[in-house]
Amino acid sequence: MKYGNVLLTALVICLCTALIVVFAFFRPEQALMIVIVYLSTIIVMSILMYIIERIYTKHKTSVDTEDFVKVAENLGIEFILWTDDYTFISFNKRLREELGLKDNFDPKEALKTVFGIDSLNAESIKPITSNFAHEATFKNPSGKTVSIAWSTSVVKKIQKKKTLYVSTGFNLTEIKKMKTNLASANDFFNASMELAEIGVVMSTDRKKYAASSETVRMFGLKSNSIDLASFRNLVHPNDRMQLDSAIKSANGETNEVKNLELRIRPVDKTTYRWYSFRYKSIGATDNTLPLFGGAIIDITEEREKDILIERLAYTDEVTEIANRNKFMEIGRETYECCRPLDCSYWVLVFDIDRFHIINDTCGYSNGNYILKNFAHILYKYVTPSGIAARLSGDNFALILRNYGDDELPVRTAKSIQEEFAKLAVGEFNSISLSCSAGFSKMPDDGNSFLDILEHAEFALKSVNGQNGTICGYEPSMHDSIIGNTELEKALALAIDNNELHLFYQPKIDLKTNKIMGVEALIRWIKPDGTIISPAAFVPIAESSHLIGKISEFVLNEGCRQNILWQKMGYPNIVMSINFTSTDFYQADLKEKVFEALAKSGLDPKWLEVELTESLALSDIDYAVSQMNKLRELGVKLAMDDFGTGYSSLSYLQILPITLLKLDRSFITDIQHDNIAFEIVSAVISIAKSKKIKTIAEGIENKEQEDILRKAGCDYGQGYLYGKPMPAEQLEELMESLS
Ligand code: C2E
Ligand code: MG
Ligand code: MG
Repeated sequence: MKYGNVLLTALVICLCTALIVVFAFFRPEQALMIVIVYLSTIIVMSILMYIIERIYTKHKTSVDTEDFVKVAENLGIEFILWTDDYTFISFNKRLREELGLKDNFDPKEALKTVFGIDSLNAESIKPITSNFAHEATFKNPSGKTVSIAWSTSVVKKIQKKKTLYVSTGFNLTEIKKMKTNLASANDFFNASMELAEIGVVMSTDRKKYAASSETVRMFGLKSNSIDLASFRNLVHPNDRMQLDSAIKSANGETNEVKNLELRIRPVDKTTYRWYSFRYKSIGATDNTLPLFGGAIIDITEEREKDILIERLAYTDEVTEIANRNKFMEIGRETYECCRPLDCSYWVLVFDIDRFHIINDTCGYSNGNYILKNFAHILYKYVTPSGIAARLSGDNFALILRNYGDDELPVRTAKSIQEEFAKLAVGEFNSISLSCSAGFSKMPDDGNSFLDILEHAEFALKSVNGQNGTICGYEPSMHDSIIGNTELEKALALAIDNNELHLFYQPKIDLKTNKIMGVEALIRWIKPDGTIISPAAFVPIAESSHLIGKISEFVLNEGCRQNILWQKMGYPNIVMSINFTSTDFYQADLKEKVFEALAKSGLDPKWLEVELTESLALSDIDYAVSQMNKLRELGVKLAMDDFGTGYSSLSYLQILPITLLKLDRSFITDIQHDNIAFEIVSAVISIAKSKKIKTIAEGIENKEQEDILRKAGCDYGQGYLYGKPMPAEQLEELMESLS
């Protein structure tokens, strides 16, 4: 009952009571009657009012519910209007259809079904009426599982114990299905990524990343999300810059897929592995956030294979440092960078002096040991942007960054030489280990890296076989080297065209004044008659493979000529031939000499090999063993140019020589130079005590001859007796002296 009605009723009752009191005052005899009538009236009125009120209330409620039901009937959501005494339960059309309800359906049963409860009482509906959302799942008559989230609110309290509720439902069936599909799609995705060993990371802010289960497994992550800072810590320090710039530049402007190769250390591991990160950045749209992410694949094995392939292609097998290919590649790249970056480099090339001797004497495995150690020494001098490589055989190279110190190449080469010399211990102690170096400057010394390298090699060649030299490239030396190269080619042709000839210079016995021998001296006689002296081409032949051919010719021709003279009836004389260090240190020296003797039929005692002092002393033990081999054959041995080198008379003790040739420099002025005379006299007497014969070179006059004869010198050679001459001329001389 409304407040206004109560007030009106109270006012009417008060007025009636006042009228009855006034009437009873004037008619006291009727007062009892009046009170009884009055009370009866009040009671009837109250009953009436109660009935009206009930009718009114009932009428009013049914009107509201109808409105609700009408409105909700065709709504696209599930709708129930119900009272908690279950006397009134109304389902809208959509829900009825969902439940497949027939006209005679039991609303209470239907209510229990849709709310997913077993009974209807205060306790069972509490979760429905007190929670904002109550989810219920049930099966509809066609067997379909239906899920509805119910939201229930009070419409009005009808009576003290009765409340009218409205429940609106949100059908979750489709969403649930989608969720299930999504979950299985996600499982499918994760399973395939796992099988393919592909990790996926995605981020909308490029700071926090969602990681797929394979990514979690790959990197041993604790959860399936990781922040950039933690991920960056797993990346190799040298690769972090790459990652930073990739993330920084990923602004979604280009839709391009990019690739990064990074070394990453999984959380639970101590070593890095290689990963390829194929990523893409997608810009934001009206409906979507920007997205950055990609796929991660472990490429360690591929990388290792690449490294192996690169190793095979770019590493020298013996020394395990870079080979020529790698050196050329790095060199070219460095050359390209020089001008743009305004920086320069030194290119140094090295040649191990007389390496063939080490190989021949000590065997290939020891030769390899020397090469490896040389590479090891060289490698120590490599700075970050440089490289050390073995170019071929005993040729090595180094690229050093130039920081304005012009002394750097010489200083470095000297240090390398010093370290290398220290390797001559143990079984190498009899060998003096040295190397020569040439260098050029990049980019100043050439128009390409190849140019620069060739110029360093020119500088190295320009030292012409002198051991332990270091020489920088000068543009002026270019011409002479080109000259030498051309000469080398021409000499090779000359050998094939038989332009090399032997001239013979007589050696005189100072006691008998008879020719006791000749020295074979080579001449290159061009078709036009020009005679080229050996001083002009022997050193070039020596620095190339040509010397072998020349020496073979000299040996065979000398033997052939000598036996011919014997056959022609000339007195037997000794044929002396000159050997360079390359010839002398050949492992098959003895065999070659033996072959020449056998082929010609010359008795070994009529053959003499001349060796220079410096040649013999450069590797004394090996020299002695080679000399002994020749002595075993019965061949004579002469020490040429004695006095020009390290002249130690003590060597006469060790070297198995049969003849000592006093160098021309002592003889030239012997008639005036007392010191020269003293030296020559002393050497002759020591040699005599060792049973070594002596010969003086370069005797040009009788005075010199007399002094030497008096000093006890056995033989003489020089222009006084005759210049080197062709065989026919020598025959005439022999005839004239006989
Ligand atoms: P060598 O073995 O010391 O030869 C002696 C050189 O002194 C010869 O020069 C000879 O012509 C020169 N000579 C001899 N007597 C006199 C003299 O009285 N006065 C002057 N001024 N010179 C004299 P050649 O023939 O030009 O040879 C020079 C060098 O070339 C030789 O020095 C030798 O080391 C080398 N050589 C010559 N022929 C051969 C060869 O067939 N094989 C090798 N490996 N080297 C050779
Ligand atoms: Mg000689
Ligand atoms: Mg000589």
